Amino acid sequence: MPTALVAGGAGFLGSHLVDKLIDEGWRVLAIDNLITGDWSNLDHQPDVVRIEADVSRPLTIDEAIDGVFHLASPASPVDFARIPFEILHAGSIATERLLELAIAKNARFLFASTSEVYGDPLVHPQSETYWGNVNPIGVRAVYDEAKRFGEATTMAFARYRSADVRIVRIFNTYGERMRLGDGRVVPNFVGQALRGEPLTVYGDGLQTRSFCYAKDLIDGIYRLFQSGCAEPVNIGNPTEHTILEFAKAVQRLTGSQSPIVHREFVTPDDPKQRRPDIAKAKSILGWEPATSLDDGLKRTIEDFQKRISRAQP
Ligand code: UDP
Repeated sequence: MPTALVAGGAGFLGSHLVDKLIDEGWRVLAIDNLITGDWSNLDHQPDVVRIEADVSRPLTIDEAIDGVFHLASPASPVDFARIPFEILHAGSIATERLLELAIAKNARFLFASTSEVYGDPLVHPQSETYWGNVNPIGVRAVYDEAKRFGEATTMAFARYRSADVRIVRIFNTYGERMRLGDGRVVPNFVGQALRGEPLTVYGDGLQTRSFCYAKDLIDGIYRLFQSGCAEPVNIGNPTEHTILEFAKAVQRLTGSQSPIVHREFVTPDDPKQRRPDIAKAKSILGWEPATSLDDGLKRTIEDFQKRISRAQP
């Protein structure tokens, strides 16, 4: 039975990756500092070894490891001002430490990068060959530049230290177990609609995003890990919506009477458009998303409904 170390294993995507690895017959060690993760995300996985630790600090793991998955990072724009240094360290120091660990264990390493490496893109849709348009001193830079640094570190370890690496560029993803107070658009709109509060659209709502259901994304990440591709691959859903259209979809699927209101942007430099070009994932991994927005949102709404009623009996 191969062993995986999942950094960020108690988080939203980390916990879905743990589920996939368990299904595929792996033994899993989940590491998390619980800054945004929660062990309750793994309560249904009693065999997972839980390690509470910060992967940007020195780390000793005594046993053999076959795969190191680095998904440890806060990712919500509302966290960029709240915990900026933790985010910088997650992409930089932690990436280097986990790569050193992977080399010491002779394990394959996967870095969870992001569509944010493309910044506010001037090329649309975004393919892996686009170098991006990131403001290096903006509020979003703590995340965007840390992930860019993480990619550079990962490639340097591949080139000069013979590390066996994979890099996934994750586009907007949603699904069960997103934090209720996460601050990103899906948990905000779904939570607001279920509580009967107004849906807060930032700006005019004409900015676009392309939303991928978490299980589809994890399937793509696992295929990438198993593949021979050592360069970045976009994984995301190429169906693009304006945020206003998305708010209306949430209203429709929740049956909520909540009105839509417009608010100021929480972070400057909010990307105006984002859609992955997934030609590479299709040809190399044979992957494309399988879940429609309506189906994925219905499952997400059901999960949020349960957790909200548990929190407010
Ligand atoms: N957004 C919004 N209302 C919210 C939260 C987010 O209109 O309550 C917008 C945000 O300005 C952005 C998009 O939704 O244009 C996606 O934001 P999110 O924070 O989910 O992630 P991002 O793609 O910006 O990293």
